[in-house]
Amino acid sequence: KESRAMKFQRQHMDPDGPSNNSNYCNQMMRRRLMTEGRCKPVNTFVHEPLVDVQAVCLQRNITCKNGQPNCHKSSSSMKITDCRVTSGSKYPNCDYRTSQKERHIIVACEGNPYVPVHFDASV
Ligand code: 5GP
Repeated sequence: KESRAMKFQRQHMDPDGPSNNSNYCNQMMRRRLMTEGRCKPVNTFVHEPLVDVQAVCLQRNITCKNGQPNCHKSSSSMKITDCRVTSGSKYPNCDYRTSQKERHIIVACEGNPYVPVHFDASV
């Protein structure tokens, strides 16, 4: 079974991206299996080395949106792509808007090793 840490990598890690094209989210949301059963409405990909994203678990501890205490905010801004389903998108034809940004990321971490398991927000 896929661990929560591996699921985070599948859903959120693309260190070598982004390919600079407006179809990025349409392709990646499908390729990373987030358009199965429904179109996942909002998802962020991070374009930084995995070790740098894992290191966020050692950075500033904050409360997650759901009230859990195990979120962490990156001390540096990171290259990300924000994928958001369009208003006209109809499953199974999931259509996304692709926006490249540089933001601080907030992730939830768990386990031993203590690694990212959830993407909470970018700020
Ligand atoms: P909205 O802007 O639609 O009200 O809410 C979207 C929220 O989802 C934003 O606060 C954004 O930071 C957050 N978000 C961005 N990417 C992801 C993601 O990959 N997973 C989850 N669970 N939330 C995300």
